Amino acid sequence: MSTNLITGNKTPEQMQALRQSGRRLAEVLAAVRGFVRPGVSELDIDAFAAREIAARGAVATYKTDEVKFPNVICISTNDEVVHGIPTDYVLEQGDVVSFDLVIAYEGMKTDAAFTMVVGEKPSGVKKHLINVTERSLYAAIDAIHGPVMTGDIGAAVEKVLTAGKLGVIRELVGHGVGLEMHMPPEVPNYGKKGSGVLLQPGEVIAIEPMATLGGERVRQLSDGWTISTRDSSLSAHFEHTILITETGAEILTKV
Ligand code: MG
Repeated sequence: MSTNLITGNKTPEQMQALRQSGRRLAEVLAAVRGFVRPGVSELDIDAFAAREIAARGAVATYKTDEVKFPNVICISTNDEVVHGIPTDYVLEQGDVVSFDLVIAYEGMKTDAAFTMVVGEKPSGVKKHLINVTERSLYAAIDAIHGPVMTGDIGAAVEKVLTAGKLGVIRELVGHGVGLEMHMPPEVPNYGKKGSGVLLQPGEVIAIEPMATLGGERVRQLSDGWTISTRDSSLSAHFEHTILITETGAEILTKV
């Protein structure tokens, strides 16, 4: 393993904590998915997530002094893309909602996100949006066979999103993660194979495609956090924290 990793050399204890962090994060997000239903407010879900995180001995990184987000989980509904602040909005059947969460366990941070439709099985354009965006994440993970350029990852994401005729959000990017919530390098959701930054076995990154049913442009709301699509189109967001290995990628944020 290289001794000079961009995302930081980690001790065996830190690597173990990272895997435990990722598993806990996946468990919390699965619990959130099960809790979501029409009639539940975003703030109800935030409180639920806070309990699930605490029950696992983890810390909600967003709500720390380090980040200063007002809540534990980002909830981005319909045309909101990411970093939505939970409000008293009561979810309705058919809403397209993205949940993005970072937790720390024994100091090691992992980051993951998913999008779902409230109260019904996704169908039509919503199903297309969600399925293609999720598929682009796994295409990127499958494109990793050991050392990899960030451009290889971006190209794999972009190819799937473009083939699905979705808007590729380029203003927001994946990133290194682990010792900190956001570390170099940036991992864009577009790019050219062979370009960008070389990632070596032992690097830990968050890959997080964001896509829309409309245009690619986004704007930040006056709350200083929430990012929405400019054309009010629906958007989706899927994210895993992964470890680059000698031969591939290990998804850390899974149960
Ligand atoms: Mg992230």
